Amino acid sequence: MLKRKLVFLLLITIIIFSLIGCTTTQNMQQPQIPAQTQEQTNTSSLSQQPAHEAVQSPSKTDKFPEPSNESNNKENDKLLIAHYIDVGQGDSILLQTPSGKTMLIDGGVPEMGDKVVNYIKKQGINKIDIIIATHLHFDHIGGLPAVIKSFEIGKIYAPKVTHTTKTYENFLNAVKYRGLKIIAAKGGMDLDFGEGVTAKILAPNSEKYDSLNNYSVVVKITYGNTAFLFTGDAEKESEQEMLSKGYDLKADVLKVGHHGSSSASTWAFLKAVNPKYAVISCGKGNDYGHPHKETMEKLKSLGITVYRTDECGTIVAVSDGRTISFNVKPGDYTAGSSGNSSTLNTSSSMTFQSLPYGYYGEPGKVYVDSSGRGLIKGNINSKGEKIYHIHGDPWYDKTKAEVWFKTETEAQAAGFRPPKK
Ligand SMILES: [Zn+2]
Repeated sequence: MLKRKLVFLLLITIIIFSLIGCTTTQNMQQPQIPAQTQEQTNTSSLSQQPAHEAVQSPSKTDKFPEPSNESNNKENDKLLIAHYIDVGQGDSILLQTPSGKTMLIDGGVPEMGDKVVNYIKKQGINKIDIIIATHLHFDHIGGLPAVIKSFEIGKIYAPKVTHTTKTYENFLNAVKYRGLKIIAAKGGMDLDFGEGVTAKILAPNSEKYDSLNNYSVVVKITYGNTAFLFTGDAEKESEQEMLSKGYDLKADVLKVGHHGSSSASTWAFLKAVNPKYAVISCGKGNDYGHPHKETMEKLKSLGITVYRTDECGTIVAVSDGRTISFNVKPGDYTAGSSGNSSTLNTSSSMTFQSLPYGYYGEPGKVYVDSSGRGLIKGNINSKGEKIYHIHGDPWYDKTKAEVWFKTETEAQAAGFRPPKK
């Protein structure tokens, strides 16, 4: 009888660990992690409903599950936990405070919405006190509608800017559906994130930027002697502003700006933050070549330990107010491969001839600008159809890009089709 119970327990544990993903092995190899994290994950997983019961299209009368039992939370009483959820190319970070408050910074791309929802449920969380949409790009707000519809939500912060994409519209609709209003986030604001923890917004600090990335809401969370900095996709311009505002940028863990792109992480900023650890959220083999070589070289030369979701999967950092431990082994300083964009550069003037549309016909042809960024627009139209456009077709200038591709093959692999004649 006892044997059968043990086998059953073992099976359940295996299932949970396989659901948690590729961090599992590393989890088990890393003895320095506070036992609390894992115990909490396990017990709350058991109390959760299976993933497939996740709310698909909730009605206004949705009932939220009862709060998880107190004893589960007791074990995390003195811990601040930051989960950098592996959402491929994108950002999604869940925070839990010692007083039981929760915050979600971004939700990854739309396709990751369910994964983020399930991950949060596995932590035994029913309510998200604060949602921060760092900025309006689809790899940050894409998954948020699923989250907003699945949990009780306290407050939602986003930068004061609009964007004309289907993804943004979906986000706004979800907020409206919950009867909530978006609070405009600005540098200098203090957030109520429960007892013992301070949460301060450090950016944006201007009304207008050329790049949507610079609208990114930057948040610093301090607990005891430890601090975490979350930068969204803030680039050089915003970093410079935070420096000149004189904010205390010092943090132990830096979520590296813009997926490790060279457009962020200036020397001055890195030195002011002076982190022990850097976390990079990016997808394996992503089209942008993130993280960029320049950034990785800086982090290496400053002796900063790097954790990255493309190598480590979901990264969980736990602070007891004095020290921070991680659930996985560090990643390395290898830059992302950018598909040899430097040698594949196609002169834009050469490419932008009048193209036969319906199907452009050269699936492998590379369309990139001088910095290696893809020039094929992936648009999601009002009917939710995913269509890509190449410069020269009649819609190119009229459509907004949700995502950029370098080749038609890439666009089609992501579920986008060419426009019809
Ligand atoms: Zn991004």
